[in-house]
Amino acid sequence: MTNEITAKSILRRNRRHIDDWFCGSYGLAPYYGCQHACVYCDGRYEKYGFEGEFGKDVNVKKNTIELLKKEIKLVKEPGYVFIGSGITDAYQPIEKKYRLTRRSIETIADHPLLSLHILTKSAFVEDDLELIAQIAKSKRKKAIISFSIAFDNDENRKKFEPGTAEISQRWRIITKAQKMGINTGVYLIPAIPFISDSEEEIRKTYEKCVKHKVDFVLSGGMTLKIGRQKQFYLEFIKKLFPKLYEPTVKLYSNADHYGSPVWQYSKNLYTLFNKLSREYKLKVRIPQHLLKDILPNYYESALMLSHMGEYLRQQGINRKAYAYAGHSIQKWAYEAKKGRTRRKDFNYGVIEKAFLEEVQNGEIMKLPSIGDKIQKMLMEFVETGNIKYYNKLSSYTN
Ligand code: SF4
Repeated sequence: MTNEITAKSILRRNRRHIDDWFCGSYGLAPYYGCQHACVYCDGRYEKYGFEGEFGKDVNVKKNTIELLKKEIKLVKEPGYVFIGSGITDAYQPIEKKYRLTRRSIETIADHPLLSLHILTKSAFVEDDLELIAQIAKSKRKKAIISFSIAFDNDENRKKFEPGTAEISQRWRIITKAQKMGINTGVYLIPAIPFISDSEEEIRKTYEKCVKHKVDFVLSGGMTLKIGRQKQFYLEFIKKLFPKLYEPTVKLYSNADHYGSPVWQYSKNLYTLFNKLSREYKLKVRIPQHLLKDILPNYYESALMLSHMGEYLRQQGINRKAYAYAGHSIQKWAYEAKKGRTRRKDFNYGVIEKAFLEEVQNGEIMKLPSIGDKIQKMLMEFVETGNIKYYNKLSSYTN
């Protein structure tokens, strides 16, 4: 059932923190709920407050464009608008009728500071490639299309993600988008226990990522939060894969708040991701060339540090110092901008300048987790725009 609703706001500003997976400074979701009906979707989790039958019912924020046109005028800091978070897919079938995603992208395309990152499992994005390519061609803007690809083939995909596009379609659109100047990524999430988490299956997807030259590949396991989500998934497994029922129950037997599987399984899965990502030399986070000139210098450097932490973690080296340093810079930016971003005269260049000065005069070292070593890297970033150690880690040459 389609339910038209009036939203109070539409463009979410990530004021405190830009997450290092999707790198969106802003978020947008014209729909709430998802007709793709993936059996593992955490949209069923009670705390997200979705009312109705998840997978069939969708709330349509009918005033999306009106709100966006108003709210976008307040944007004075460059960054990605990430379309694809939470419990919805912006290109689910209902988009064919309402075209709220397309019209949102048209509005984003007109804004000089906004780039675009879309994550989808639908082939319907193909209809908007021309429009998305316009953003990619604009000065100091980028456009990324990421596909979530959890399977190598359609046999299980049809059962687990009934409303989504065929896997081969997603690869085809990746190639087509690249030819049009659009950057691309893959989120191999979730690797489904006993179904698509084998070395063989993950390897096949990684090989395709290399073959199709995607810019980055992020990988993750499946979570099952206690309640509706877990119950729905277990009932599905019991019905279609009865032999996997008991092992799945056991795997998710810890009452973990995030719905994570037992620790040993996660450890083994991430060891496998790490091993294969290194073998295929995959960029496991959105690379710097997609951040430079798109984000202000303070966010670019903060994300680079967080991403370095991830590359170190891959090698079994403690990543915390880098991740914390990245957080510290994000926190610094939040404080520096506090109460100013909505002012008519707000200029993010002033914050960039303040950041450069803090790095140059060493004041930045007063922030938690920024010691000599990281300050030197930040100096290098300020002087050259790069950090050699980041380049080494992300190109697997260290
Ligand atoms: S496409 Fe995403 S939001 Fe939609 S049902 Fe699947 S996992 Fe959930």
